This record gives sequence, structure tokens and C-alpha cells, in this order.
Amino acid sequence: MAKRIETKCIQGGYVPKNGEPRQIPIIQSTTFKYDTSEEMGKLFDLEASGYFYSRLQNPTCDYVAAKIAELEGGTAAMLTSSGQAANFFAIFNIASAGDHIVSSTAIYGGTFNLFAVTMKKMGIDFTFVDPDCTPEELDAAFQENTKALFGETIANPALTVLDFDKFAAAAHKHGVPLIVDNTFATPVNCRPFEWGADIVTHSTTKYMDGHGSAVGGAIVDSGKFDWNKYADKYPGLTTPDESYHGVTYTERFGLEGAYITKAVVQLMRDLGTVQSPQSAYYLNLGLESLPVRMARHCENGFKVAQFLESSDKIEWVTYPGLPGNKDYALAQKYMPNGTCGVVSFGVKGGKAAAEKFMKALKVAAIETHVADARTCCLNPATSTHRQLSEEELIAAGVPANLVRYSCGLENADDLIEDLAQALEKI
Ligand SMILES: *Cc1c(COP(=O)(O)O)cnc(C)c1O
Repeated sequence: MAKRIETKCIQGGYVPKNGEPRQIPIIQSTTFKYDTSEEMGKLFDLEASGYFYSRLQNPTCDYVAAKIAELEGGTAAMLTSSGQAANFFAIFNIASAGDHIVSSTAIYGGTFNLFAVTMKKMGIDFTFVDPDCTPEELDAAFQENTKALFGETIANPALTVLDFDKFAAAAHKHGVPLIVDNTFATPVNCRPFEWGADIVTHSTTKYMDGHGSAVGGAIVDSGKFDWNKYADKYPGLTTPDESYHGVTYTERFGLEGAYITKAVVQLMRDLGTVQSPQSAYYLNLGLESLPVRMARHCENGFKVAQFLESSDKIEWVTYPGLPGNKDYALAQKYMPNGTCGVVSFGVKGGKAAAEKFMKALKVAAIETHVADARTCCLNPATSTHRQLSEEELIAAGVPANLVRYSCGLENADDLIEDLAQALEKI
């Protein structure tokens, strides 16, 4: 029986047998016991599956990863210590020094830094493209050595909506996977695999956890990208791995398992950015209520955006669910049930007015966070995006007077009254 997303959020990933814990158990153990070295040796050779050390795999984390795989409609998934680690692994799993990636400019500031500074130092080159570019311009960004195309379903904090048709067509024309960070939409509002994406990443720190409790990330594979068809481009997946006695991932684990297995047994083994079982447990509690919470986040986001749009103290409002937004049609197509609870806007009077306004807010707190139960706000130009130059800020869609306002689960009327009194103080 094919289950709907609300049911998968509650029951996916973990099916207890007779007499086993109803809730996903926290297996707080670094290691696992075996009767013979021979049995454990098989695990090391990837000839048998099982647990031996929690840096590679842990049952609690695997149950939660399996739930996220079900939510996205993927074939395999893994948890990581953070969203940053997820995006790093997603690319580093298929690219190395000398390779090239095409990415949308409209991405999270931390991801931009990771790509443009840190991964560049590792010899991986990035070309950034405006998400509103023509298909021809997108095509022109690809090179012989391009290994992936990257974008965010709803960009943080620019709130532009990814044109999946355009991005998937370009990626597949050039024989590379489309990797999509689906953090803001969550699989409740958008499932990128249904629109041509091949790999999905998440900062589970945001809506998935939803309570500001645990930093985490996830990577999900659709199992649809044919690594074998482009075997020369992806030797890490299609040729023997000497660190595992010559295992070839696509042969041993098939298209449905090769990518995630490699990321776990190679990258996680060597880099070790695991999510703790305790954090995975919190994440699962968040996942259980995700559909209920997303509906409220979206309802609050829409009401707040409408209110701000009607205020003469506000220069502009960006909310993809608002009719008149430049990406409204894309949002309706890819996220007909709602987008997210984050609204961005520019306060008249520039940065100084924005600061005064934010200080006067009583319900919304100033935080370096988004997408949890408590309403919060931030001026990215002076905080998360302060490392970007003026030009990079504009390219990322983050003008200096932008306030990112993340609607929590409070009563929308309280949020609006709070906004109204703070705007009066400018
Ligand atoms: C927050 C965020 C990240 C980074 O995730 P962390 O869990 O903070 O490491 C990546 N992508 C998007 C879209 C984000 O909002």
C-alpha cells in the first residue's frame, strides 16, 4: 500500500517487530559486538551489511535516514553532522581536484563559502549562474570536466524558486546529476525527485528538526542517475575502490545504492562528520509533526507577507507564495500546497531603519536561525552574509536592507501586531 506523506512522517523508516520499542530507540553505542573476527571481517569488506562502529553506521541514524529516504521518494539516504557536511559530501562524493561544478548563485551563504572558497582550495572549480538565466546561458556554464549542477528549491535567504524543468534539462543534457538542497521546502511541500532532481540534500537543523534542538544534515539519492552511462566521468563509483579490496560500487550496490554506500563507507569513514544517535532521535520527533507544522508555517508566512505588502513602511516583500511575486508561477507549479514560512522584505530607510525596527520587535527574536517553531529574524548583510562583497550580495539576491523573517508556529495575529508596533517605531 502506497502511503501518503503524513503517514510516512509518522511510520516510515522503522518498523518494530513483536515486542520491540514502539519509538525509534536511541542506540547510544560507539561499537557493536561480534562472536568471531571472521564475521566482522565480512563487514569491513562490504560483503555483509551490519554495524561495527558508529562513525560509519548506527541503527538510530539509519532508521531516521530511511524515513527521510521514504519522504523524498529516494532509494537510499544518510545523515550527516550538519547541512554543511551534507552539501560537501554530496559533491565531494563525485568530484575531486580538477573537476568543475555549476551552481545557482541563489544559495545559502554558508554553502556559497563552502563552494567558492573552501572547495576551490581543494581544486574543485565552481561556475555560478543566475537562476533566472536563459537555458542557453545555463548550457554555456558547463565544461568538459563538469560533474554536477547544484541549486536550492527555495533559496535561503533570497527565496527564489528553482526552475526544476530548466535545471534538470541542462544537467541531463550534459550527463551530470542535478543536486538540490531541499531544506526550505521540505519533502512535505516539494519532492525534487518528482521534478528531475537526482540527489537531494537537507539541513535537518531547520524545519525537519523544527524546534531549534539539533544541528544535522541528510543526503538522499533517487537511484535514477545512470553512473554507468557516464562511467569515465565518475570513476569513483564505476571502478574498483582499492581501500575495499577492489569493490566497484555500482556493481555491488546497483544504481539504487552505489552513491550513498560510497559516501558512507569512504567519506564518512575518512572525514567522520556523523550525526549523533541522540540528535537523530530529536530529528525524528520533528519529522513526525512535519506536515502539521509546515501547514502552519506556510499559513503564517502568507498572512505576514500580505500584511507587510500593505504597509507603507516597507519597500518590498519577497514571498514565493504571494501572487505578484516573480516566482509565484514556479511556486504554484512545484509547491501547490505551500512554500515555507520565511518571508524577506526591505524596510524603507535602509539598514539603519531595519536595525531600529528589528530592535523594537517583541515576539520575533533576532537569531542566526530560521525555520523553527519560534519566530525569528535576521539582517543577513550584517550577519550570515557579511563575508560577501556588495556585488556578491546582489548576485545572491541579498540587498543590505533585507530582513529575513522566519514565521514560527505562534498565532499569526500576534506576529502581525508585533510587526505593526515595531514599524511604528521607525
Ligand atoms: C542552514 C542551511 C544550510 C547549512 O546547514 P547547517 O545545518 O547549518 O550546517 C544549508 N543549506 C540551507 C538551504 C540552509 O538553510
